[in-house]
Amino acid sequence: MFKCPSFECQKCPRLLEFRALNKIKFPQYHNGPVESFGDLNAEILIVGLAPGLNGANQTNRPFTNDYAGDILYPALKNFGFARGNYGKVKDDGFELVNVRVSNAVRCVPPQNKVTADEIAACRGYLQDEIGAMPKLKFILSLGAVSHGAVLQALGYKKSAYKFAHGAEHLLNRHNIVLLDSYHTSRYNINTNVLTAAMFDKIIARLRQLL
Ligand code: URA
Repeated sequence: MFKCPSFECQKCPRLLEFRALNKIKFPQYHNGPVESFGDLNAEILIVGLAPGLNGANQTNRPFTNDYAGDILYPALKNFGFARGNYGKVKDDGFELVNVRVSNAVRCVPPQNKVTADEIAACRGYLQDEIGAMPKLKFILSLGAVSHGAVLQALGYKKSAYKFAHGAEHLLNRHNIVLLDSYHTSRYNINTNVLTAAMFDKIIARLRQLL
């Protein structure tokens, strides 16, 4: 049975220190490992990078109250992968349909940057989660870090599967297709690396593949 990491997880000293600091600065925030959102029976898993300080780290739901969620969740709703209104809080009644959303690293990192050690320390949770999704057919990685984390979690060589926006990689031992997208971060949107229209195309492609 898949278990989300709990507050007892002590694997990442830097993230623990940041959590402790944030507990003082923002006592009303969640400040712990963020639970995934959506059903384990979903056919699609979307993997982000890590919780944002004032977003998922506050709300305990991935991409919730994060700028990146303002792009992700409306796109999912437009293509029938969500219902209800995304209200930027965990109890907004918004529901995912056939999709689960998770992160490569589950605790908020300073400056939104994770280290290779932190990705490795959190890998077991991603492995267990993927293993607990019996109907899983597609993984959508948001950004190159997520792409690498998914490949390593499943035991594939990163060098054999190059990250590219819109790329589709068949992970043949698992019979899963890994799709890549640029991350829906504020930085990528502000610099036009990714537009909402480009991201809609990725979600439309998922709809078509299903
Ligand atoms: N919030 C998340 O939960 N994950 C991200 O990758 C970015 C923001």
